[in-house]
Amino acid sequence: MNITDLTIKSAHDHLKNGDFSVNDLVDATLKNIEEKNPKINAYLEVYKDVKGGIEKAQSLYKTGEASSITGIPIALKDNILNKGKIASAASKILENYHATYDATAVSKLKKESPIFVGRTNMDEFAMGSSTENSAYGVTRNPLDLERVPGGSSGGSVAAVKMEGALAALGSDTGGSIRQPASFCGLVGLNPTYGAISRYGLIALGSSLDKIGPITKSVTDAEILFNVMKGKDSKDSTSVDIGPEKKLPKKLVIGVPEDVLSMDGIQPEVRKNFEESIAKFSKLGYEIKNISLPNAHYSLAIYYVIMPAEVSSNLARYDGVKYGLYKEGDNLLQDYIKTRTQGFGKETRRRLILGTYVLSSGYYDSFYGKANELRRAVIGDFDKAFEKVGVDIIISPTTPDVAFKIGEKAANPLSMYMSDILTAPQSIAGLPAISVPSGLSNGMPTGLQITAPYLREDLLFKAGKDFLGEN
Ligand code: GLN
Repeated sequence: MNITDLTIKSAHDHLKNGDFSVNDLVDATLKNIEEKNPKINAYLEVYKDVKGGIEKAQSLYKTGEASSITGIPIALKDNILNKGKIASAASKILENYHATYDATAVSKLKKESPIFVGRTNMDEFAMGSSTENSAYGVTRNPLDLERVPGGSSGGSVAAVKMEGALAALGSDTGGSIRQPASFCGLVGLNPTYGAISRYGLIALGSSLDKIGPITKSVTDAEILFNVMKGKDSKDSTSVDIGPEKKLPKKLVIGVPEDVLSMDGIQPEVRKNFEESIAKFSKLGYEIKNISLPNAHYSLAIYYVIMPAEVSSNLARYDGVKYGLYKEGDNLLQDYIKTRTQGFGKETRRRLILGTYVLSSGYYDSFYGKANELRRAVIGDFDKAFEKVGVDIIISPTTPDVAFKIGEKAANPLSMYMSDILTAPQSIAGLPAISVPSGLSNGMPTGLQITAPYLREDLLFKAGKDFLGEN
């Protein structure tokens, strides 16, 4: 048996049966990392102090107190705080920043004694779609080393795909869990905004950021979500998911024709999507055509609101409070030197964009307008779910499969297009999951399922049906 290829669920069952030990599992995982990471660059750091955790986890299996994630090797994206460890958000400006506390998601997981194996590469501060914007080198797609793994959670996804962890945490602001999961043939869950606390996630766009799991199965995504979810007094925007809801007997699926006819969706991806629709029909789901007339504004809305929030959130990196400090002739020169040398190109581009859309005279026409349109996008989804009465909405996750390294790096606009299908849910704060839907030109494609606010249960049900996990 290849034990690093297992899902969380099956590894847990084997650990319970004593088929192998936590030590065996972690050892095999670390071997894979040692062998594959030099090429793939999924991990920025592999933790050296896992021994105590292994012993603790193994003892929980002995006493019968182990939960589903006890002893399971999990990777953490470099923007999620793990007390005592570096969290650099793949930026030079935070190169030596050690977290002084745990993110709530991390502390909830820690209670069940998984093994955090290390921190993974990402686009700097999670801005990007290819993991080429890291200050620490590009991450390669384990399925084709010439291609990107997607981004910004590319390191987390590559870590799981190269069997250097059984699962990973990522963050999704506009598609950063779903898009790379799709590019590497994995499951990626973007939870409802607030369903998992943002406390301890290095802030990017605060009205959009979410932590979520990257896994090999929908069942595993559900396991991790259930541990991490819930209201947190340290994040005022967090919410309780509430009591279990009744699942409808037969789910009605909405297919948004107007979204699918947007420019840039490749014919092969479209064809694969048609096959996914046919699969759902066969499973007894009812398919309805719906319209989301404002969804095509989402990317434009995203690229106003998100940089605006970035410019505010990243103001704290001034050389005084955190991380890198470069001395200039006076305080202003300190700021300029530190930020010019500490931030990469894409980060600086967004800071300029964000500062611009928030500046007096432009605020209303850009930021104000984007927020108005944001409400219109939310209204489209409300109508589809409440008036038209669909339970979930499906689309491809990305307009194309994983592209070649360097192919889009010089053209930010074409890079931004990667998120045309994932931005609408981010704008609306809705949960969406990407599940593998086969291959197109030899590379994985993903199917994105979207549900109403706090209805992750519908995503899990449809995702499991789709992948035959039920
Ligand atoms: N690719 C998008 C961006 O560059 C989304 C990033 C994310 O979700 N963190 O902003």
